[in-house]
Amino acid sequence: MAQQIVLFWFRRDLRLHDNLGLCEALSSGKKVLPLFIFDTEILNLLPDTKDRRVDLLLQIITRLHTELKTYKSSIQIEHGKPEEIFQRLFSQHPIAAVYTNRDYEPFAKERDKKIAQLCAKHHIAFHSYKNQVIFESEEILTQQGNPYTVYTPYSRTWRSAYEKGGKQNFDSTRLLHNLTHRAPQKVPKIQDIGFQDTGEKYTKYTFPKEIIHSYEKNRDFPGIDGTSKIGFHLRFGTVSIREVVAYANKHNAVWLQELIWRDFFSGILDTFPHVVHSCFKDKYNELNWRNNEEEFEQWCAGQTGYPIVDAGMRELNASGWMHNRVRMITASFLCKHLCIDWRWGEAYFASKLLDYELASNNGNWQWAASTGCDAVPYFRIFNPYTQQQKFDPDETYIRRHIPEYGTNAYPKPMVDHTFARKRALQMYKEV
Ligand SMILES: Cc1cc2nc3c(=O)[nH]c(=O)nc-3n(C[C@H](O)[C@H](O)[C@H](O)COP(=O)(O)OP(=O)(O)OC[C@H]3O[C@@H](n4cnc5c(N)ncnc54)[C@H](O)[C@@H]3O)c2cc1C
Repeated sequence: MAQQIVLFWFRRDLRLHDNLGLCEALSSGKKVLPLFIFDTEILNLLPDTKDRRVDLLLQIITRLHTELKTYKSSIQIEHGKPEEIFQRLFSQHPIAAVYTNRDYEPFAKERDKKIAQLCAKHHIAFHSYKNQVIFESEEILTQQGNPYTVYTPYSRTWRSAYEKGGKQNFDSTRLLHNLTHRAPQKVPKIQDIGFQDTGEKYTKYTFPKEIIHSYEKNRDFPGIDGTSKIGFHLRFGTVSIREVVAYANKHNAVWLQELIWRDFFSGILDTFPHVVHSCFKDKYNELNWRNNEEEFEQWCAGQTGYPIVDAGMRELNASGWMHNRVRMITASFLCKHLCIDWRWGEAYFASKLLDYELASNNGNWQWAASTGCDAVPYFRIFNPYTQQQKFDPDETYIRRHIPEYGTNAYPKPMVDHTFARKRALQMYKEV
């Protein structure tokens, strides 16, 4: 009888080093077959066949594949529904166990539940590990054992737990000789999985030490290259959150705070999955949004006549990234100046952001719309002009993204600020 093997299922942890699930699989005493699935249940939801993230994802998988050649191994790349794929793999290979790292999005939890049940039916073990966050939701609780819904006390408890025992790394690379040896398999082309080239090129992340060391000084100015641009790499796990947080803990407390927000929102999504479709604060489900489609199109296209908003939307449309300060301004503008449902904006960001994460996107949109946990109070309405004067005083950012700024070709403001402010206050007061 052929030797039993175990599967390691890569998802949002696309690296060989400091990967806990992989480390556990490699320590199992059985040879490990690495697996990646282009999940059609996720891909079919993407609105455009030209999606930079899918293109980049395939490039990352291809690199991983090349790295595995060094160990005379290769990754099993599949395209389809995970349940059907596992069913087939179970009939093709003598599999003893499936190892993977946990994902906290409701869709992923449901999928993993089904795969775990399928494994159980075949008498195959299913093991999952914490690898994507420093602390999972139930690890950071109030003294009464409840989840935190306010960031500041959460972050205090988080930091104390981290000092007490959160600092760990897992040396998966030294165990890579335990991978199955096999000939390199064919890596699909982007067209084979139903998508098109976007021209986007993946580059390995190099830590921008200088940027991180002066993060607190520059992070709020979109005209300056002052933030880490690490979001995409955390999304796909090409960098390890444990290594990133260890660096932040040593070198920049303000940057660490931002990384703690990521854990915070991941926990909120895990504990309160209703936030995917509803307001965290129930009463705001009654808000009477205006939802004007034409105005929404203007916002998406960066044609509102508010330069800081338009520069942000154009940056997003052109590059798949937008500066955090401007994400807050554009989101606030959509919900408050235009009274458009935060879910519309959330979905638009989700379709464009390279660093898109359901938990952080949802949490921040609900923050900006004042419907979320620990959100900005509804009566605090960003004034786009003051924001612009404060954070882009010499107009570097605006001019970079709006070439026609200052000419007749640039649109007039689509709505008057004072009028819009009053209208938003009225809408919120009604609930
Ligand atoms: C409306 C809106 C939508 C957003 N959508 C996303 C999203 O889909 N994915 C995402 O990762 N971030 C999102 N953010 C948070 C933040 O804007 C980005 O994480 C940040 O701009 C990414 O740039 P960076 O990697 O250079 O971050 P840095 O400023 O260098 O921060 C480092 C990392 O910390 C984490 N982080 C920073 N700020 C936040 C925050 N407010 N909430 C949660 N994590 C944070 C991210 O992982 C980020 O990459 C959103 C913010 C707003 C206001």
